[in-house]
Amino acid sequence: MINPSWRRVVLKVGSALIAPENQGCSELYLRPIAEFIRQCRLQGLEVILVSSGSVAAGRHHFNFQHQRVPIALKRAMAAVGQSQMMNFWSRCFDFPCAQVLLTHGDLSDRVRHINIRNTLRRLLDHQILPIVNENDTIATDEIKVGDNDNLAAMVATVANADALIICSDVDGLYTADPNKDANASLIAEVRKIDQHIYGLAGGASSKVGTGGMRTKIEAAEKATAQGIDTLIIDGHKAEAFQCILAGKNPGTIFYGQARPLPAKKHWVRHTLRAKGEIWVDDGCVEALCQQGASLLCSGIVDIQGEFDSGDAVLVRCASGKRKIAKGVSRFSASELFSIKGHHSSDIASCLGYCPAGSNAVIHRSEMMLLERI
Ligand code: GLU
Repeated sequence: MINPSWRRVVLKVGSALIAPENQGCSELYLRPIAEFIRQCRLQGLEVILVSSGSVAAGRHHFNFQHQRVPIALKRAMAAVGQSQMMNFWSRCFDFPCAQVLLTHGDLSDRVRHINIRNTLRRLLDHQILPIVNENDTIATDEIKVGDNDNLAAMVATVANADALIICSDVDGLYTADPNKDANASLIAEVRKIDQHIYGLAGGASSKVGTGGMRTKIEAAEKATAQGIDTLIIDGHKAEAFQCILAGKNPGTIFYGQARPLPAKKHWVRHTLRAKGEIWVDDGCVEALCQQGASLLCSGIVDIQGEFDSGDAVLVRCASGKRKIAKGVSRFSASELFSIKGHHSSDIASCLGYCPAGSNAVIHRSEMMLLERI
């Protein structure tokens, strides 16, 4: 292995490898990937597979030729394709596989999040291979992750993995588009993911799946913030897998941060979605950024969007409109309208009750300052 201290690895395999050309599942790329999983387990690693491809695998059962598939049909394709894909994977192994279907709604609910973690642990304890996908048959825009790169990063986080390996259709991240620029070179190592790195990723490109290099960088950012090394490789190449097993890097490795975010803060920053915004004055920005304070109602000047207590929100500087932080609001939007600009000791008299039992609108432990969102 590239890093001998890796114990648990999440491997993400995209639709283009499972069902190239949308003609059902194919063994072409699956066999070498299955062999890699087998070898990893022989080397003592725990493996979780995040496998896309339900829609691509199910598509050929429907007489529908257009590239853009209506959502109801996509759900039906996913229903038939998912079981065929599981069947395919199961036939590749002489150990049991378990199907785990998730949505973003499951990962952002604290109780279900813990249930997912416990289930994955139990499966691994019993040498069963968890095979995770988004639950495309029921997912709506509001509750879905949308691409399996980000889903795989969330799974790596919830499973407390050491490494995330994302199979792509190129060797890794290049300095320029290798199809257009003959001087483009592969970047072997990335220690910090910044705007420059995102700039190299460009947009989505795959015809079969959903993601592109950008969603892979997003996934790497999520995972590395939790201390998880992330590797992007070309999943079409059996040599890439052999390379990893031999301890070499065939693609781009993004190193996990040496000081990972605390789990709760990581969840707020990288899993929860903001349902609204709280706009604050300059004094409040200073207190949040310089003094490490919690957000109090006295600094709030406006509220945008509808949200409940317990929802994630963005905190924005009212004067500059800069995004300052993301956190969990202990008050709903309508409660905040009543208490904004007031001193914390007035909360009970403004509302007639003090719902959160606390003065902070967003407590420090549930807030992340943002450099970039
Ligand atoms: N969950 C989708 C599927 O299995 C794929 C999403 C993606 O391509 O990232 O078909």
